[in-house]
Amino acid sequence: MKNLLESLVENNRIHVSEGKVASYIPELSKTNPSDLGICVVGLDGKEYGAGDFEKKFTIQSISKVISLMLALLDNGKRNVFEKVGMEPTGDSFNSIVNLEVKSPDKPFNPMINAGAIATTALIGGDNQEEKSERLLEFTRKITGNPEINYNEQVYLSEKETGNRNRALAYFMKSNGIIDGNVEEILDLYFRQCSIEGNCRDIARIGAMLSNDGVIPWSGERVVSREVSRIVKTIMVTCGMYDASGNFAVHIGIPAKSGVGGGIMASVPRRMGIGVYGPSLDEKGNSIGGAHVLKGLSDELDLSIF
Ligand code: GLN
Repeated sequence: MKNLLESLVENNRIHVSEGKVASYIPELSKTNPSDLGICVVGLDGKEYGAGDFEKKFTIQSISKVISLMLALLDNGKRNVFEKVGMEPTGDSFNSIVNLEVKSPDKPFNPMINAGAIATTALIGGDNQEEKSERLLEFTRKITGNPEINYNEQVYLSEKETGNRNRALAYFMKSNGIIDGNVEEILDLYFRQCSIEGNCRDIARIGAMLSNDGVIPWSGERVVSREVSRIVKTIMVTCGMYDASGNFAVHIGIPAKSGVGGGIMASVPRRMGIGVYGPSLDEKGNSIGGAHVLKGLSDELDLSIF
């Protein structure tokens, strides 16, 4: 497995020059566009890494999966999907237009920014600090990594410049989709996006999901089978934004990307995969990461379809 991963990284490094690192969050523009790495975590707990798999990055939109799980645990399926839908959009992740013209009562799904902000608003806790601590504790548990933390620079950088997300959130407040203090909800959203980890950390989240909500290395159940199924399904239909259809056809694995360059993937009952390559395509998905995943999917016949 290790040799296979190494050759996939080396053969696909060439693709990183076809994309660009995200710069709309100024702090992200400092990342090295040629980084590329992968980690696979099997359901027997065995881990294999290649390339830059130990480099840390901010998980950005991969955190949408984490906040969705927490919101489902805290509120139940019915209450969550009363506020946010489960349909793909075919539009970019930070699109505003649907919220006004097509779906003013609820954002389309929890994987686009509007839907994720509405989901984050449902995370339980008595105050801001408790909510932020719960998010971190949950992430530490599902990654098995007690050192997971927020990246303060990236958090502050997005908080300062995230006016598009601010627009989405205030619009949703005016339509009654979100309750409570908008700036606090945004603050928690910016924090979750700045959670820092490496390929192994996100591969472990994928492994837990592929094991139907049970952490493979400890046997502990962290989410129900139903929550794990809901999350993986929404990853297939919406996880790669408006490239989700293409990704499903060519790679066929439930996955969630982030503009930090990570992709977390979960092959049901087989393995979790984390890839990292901050050079992004025009949809905001890791270009080298997607090529490596495609190579692995072809080689090991991982498509679920
Ligand atoms: N923090 C980013 C944003 O809200 C997350 C987007 C992403 O990873 N696609 O714009």
